[in-house]
Amino acid sequence: MEVDGRCHCGAITYRAVVEPEKAGLCHCSDCQMLSGSAYRASVQAPAASFRILTGQPKIYVKTTAESGTKRAHAFCPDCGTPVYSAAISDPQIYSLRIGCLRQRAELAPRRQIWCRSALPWSANLEGVPRLPRQ
Ligand SMILES: [Zn+2]
Ligand SMILES: [Zn+2]
Repeated sequence: MEVDGRCHCGAITYRAVVEPEKAGLCHCSDCQMLSGSAYRASVQAPAASFRILTGQPKIYVKTTAESGTKRAHAFCPDCGTPVYSAAISDPQIYSLRIGCLRQRAELAPRRQIWCRSALPWSANLEGVPRLPRQ
């Protein structure tokens, strides 16, 4: 599925072909912090399909506490929007942040990982009052 994305300020734009069946949520505590949210929604794109069209993301190399694995996290240096994560050298797969993709409504998650650190309230938001706008 072809997708296009951008950061919030618009400096970084990109295009990719993603695998919708690889859309998922991550509940790990790193994703909670790095996304500033309850969990992160991502979808995988093969490296050959991923093109940055404009702008240059800044890379934060995250070291996973448990495994020591290093991973590159790309974000816009101007607006801070997280764009993707990937292996630090010769990445074969880019994990694109679904919230930045224009086609995000079509990319429903197919699995959830790191559920042991999921925030207990994040699984069920039914019963929380819903307003159409703020
Ligand atoms: Zn930006
Ligand atoms: Zn995670």
